[in-house]
Amino acid sequence: MEQSILLVEDEEKLARFVELELMHEGYKVDKSGNGRDALEKALKNDYDLILLDIMLPGLNGLEVLRRLLKEKDVPVILLTARDAVMDKVSGLDAGAVDYITKPFAIEELLARIRVALKLHSVRTGRGSSAASAEDKEGVLRWQSLTLDERRHQVRYDGHEITLTNREFIMLKTLLENMDIVLSRDTLLNKVCGYDYMGETNVVDVYIRYLRSKIDDVFGVKMIQTVRGVGYVIHSGEDEN
Ligand code: CA
Repeated sequence: MEQSILLVEDEEKLARFVELELMHEGYKVDKSGNGRDALEKALKNDYDLILLDIMLPGLNGLEVLRRLLKEKDVPVILLTARDAVMDKVSGLDAGAVDYITKPFAIEELLARIRVALKLHSVRTGRGSSAASAEDKEGVLRWQSLTLDERRHQVRYDGHEITLTNREFIMLKTLLENMDIVLSRDTLLNKVCGYDYMGETNVVDVYIRYLRSKIDDVFGVKMIQTVRGVGYVIHSGEDEN
């Protein structure tokens, strides 16, 4: 089924570029360059996702977000300026599911849209959660690997693997989003919190630790690198 996205961005060139890319990916796109108009559109129509710029004429994006989420449960990804840390914090507090900093790589935006749509459909019980590896007992699985969230335990073929808290969260995030490429920023937000100000290469460091504790020990290739985008665990058995 075709999914629809409302793109709220007053920079026309950027809006046009993103619109074309989204249409190319098969999404139905509505555009708005004004906060008040955007809120009206978002309340009137049932979009599957909203991309929302913060600095907008008419009504500030954060205000649009607050008023909208009072009325509707819809995933919103914020488009923010590079140094607008408070905007990101306020936006996430107000219920945005994610943010992306301008300028961004379109592949990263598309990846985040896929993640947001999937998480939303799983959370609301719509759509298929087949790709999610979680069973009834809250255990995530990949081949012979199990991650038991309640016991905070990871095993491969029954062998216990000792992970630090951050490694555990990183692995859990990848398993929960099986087959979805997660960007370094998304993983960083999950593992270090969205106010983390250090280097994004800490993600690569934790991936390396996980590989040394799992891939190297058990002779598998669990975590795949997607160059220029991020990391993914594929559900398929034959992935190399
Ligand atoms: Ca703007």
